[in-house]
Amino acid sequence: MTIDHGKIIDELDVSRFGRVFVAGEWREAVDAHPVVDPATGQEIGHVGQSSAQDVNDAVAAARSGFLKWRAMSTNKRRACVLKLAALVQEHERELSKLESLDVGLPVTVARNFGVKACYRNLEYFASWMDKIYGEVVPLTGQSEGHFDYTRREPFGVVAVITPWNTPMLFYGSKVGPALATGNAVVLKPSELASWSALRFAELAQQAGFPEGVISVVTGDGRVGQQLCEHPGVDLISFTGGFPTAQKVMVAASKNCTEVALELGGKSPNIIFDDANLAKACMGSALGCFALTGQACAAASRLFVQESVFDEVLGQLKSFASGLPVGDPQLKTNIIGPLVAQRQLDRVMGFIERGKASGAEVIAGGERVNGELASGFFVQPTIFSGADRGSEMMREEIFGPVLNVQSFKRVDEVVEWANDSEYGLAAGLWTKDVNRAHKVAHALEAGVVWVNCWGTVPNAAPFGGYKRSGIGREGGRDALSAFTQVKNIFMDLG
Ligand code: NAD
Repeated sequence: MTIDHGKIIDELDVSRFGRVFVAGEWREAVDAHPVVDPATGQEIGHVGQSSAQDVNDAVAAARSGFLKWRAMSTNKRRACVLKLAALVQEHERELSKLESLDVGLPVTVARNFGVKACYRNLEYFASWMDKIYGEVVPLTGQSEGHFDYTRREPFGVVAVITPWNTPMLFYGSKVGPALATGNAVVLKPSELASWSALRFAELAQQAGFPEGVISVVTGDGRVGQQLCEHPGVDLISFTGGFPTAQKVMVAASKNCTEVALELGGKSPNIIFDDANLAKACMGSALGCFALTGQACAAASRLFVQESVFDEVLGQLKSFASGLPVGDPQLKTNIIGPLVAQRQLDRVMGFIERGKASGAEVIAGGERVNGELASGFFVQPTIFSGADRGSEMMREEIFGPVLNVQSFKRVDEVVEWANDSEYGLAAGLWTKDVNRAHKVAHALEAGVVWVNCWGTVPNAAPFGGYKRSGIGREGGRDALSAFTQVKNIFMDLG
């Protein structure tokens, strides 16, 4: 049956999302981008392009919002953050459907990786709000009568710029700690995924934040660029691709604005011959294909020890071929469409060039036709034998494409795993605990998963080595990322 989202579109009332939320009020945007349902290829609404005036007003409102927010007691501020978490939870089903409609994430994935992660992060960071404090600095060997201490203070106005792959997650993992540490936020979601940000802003308004503490300016990269160059922005918290991050850094250099960057990856995953193979195969396949491969930490390079290579390839093939692909609004589907036509073209380009290069297609390798032909669906695809120097092994594809290679020795696989410009995540599967520690220490990545893939507890730091970013989000590290240290030295004489 062809996909029909007409009822869901009406139910979610998406026609109101051509607006921006600035200085506590809703404004019609000056221009609009069409929003296309990735599951059907049909235009289903609009997202606004904020004007330069909208951005200036949002930053100015954030400055005065910050002063009001800072003046409130911690208890009152925490109540606002917790209220927002409760409202997101209350609207969990609606937000999951909205996210699924807008970006094509299967609704269960949108719920678990996005909406739940959002309110759980908000709750987690709210619980830190009365536990942020500095240190008394020992003045050993210096004259008596002095006192030195530090304070962790908010930056002020934080521009939070987000990509399209799991938008709701970022409203918890980035906006959450920004607010909890006392900052005001101007949120710039991706032009491909803005509806949930606007719904989040509606809920924030209901939660009772002072005017200007949260604004949402939608639109394309020009809006992000203006924010990064803006003298009124004190910190840029950016998640997205490396080429955009380079532009962000150049723009930030205008005012020497602090940047925190969460970028892409080409994450290596290693299955040793003593691993629980059934668990390793399922975890590795989902590690690559979850979110339809559109995950920064996708396990896209798989290295399998030679003696179990054929068995692993067989299990991966049957797992990938059996993954339910289809309407993202159906709870039973695990693989949805890619976010947009341009992403479909990009991923199919990698697949076609991979085939032409002589790499062997083990599973998939085609766009999904039949009833799904008008959506941006690609079969979960497995390649074997690609050249390690080829683009498939080096570039972030951001689609459901897994490359498998065999290895013999630990030293060679560690070298191959680290042979990447990226260093976001890595994984390994083994029953040998000594080897697990040794290899985990040798891998150049900000996160290493052992006998699992993809879990990021709220309390754990997350971020990348090399071209995968600067700084860490998550846990206590996020508190450092969203605060600056002030030292106070006193002469008590
Ligand atoms: P992108 O870099 O194209 O866009 C990200 C955001 O930057 C969007 O909001 C976009 O409008 C904005 N932008 C574009 N040009 C800009 C400019 N000149 N100045 C400021 N902002 C600008 O990324 P994308 O295609 O939306 O997302 C995919 C990328 O995000 C992948 O590389 C993925 O790995 C990465 N990502 C990383 C993480 C992580 O936590 N490390 C998480 C999710 C996604």
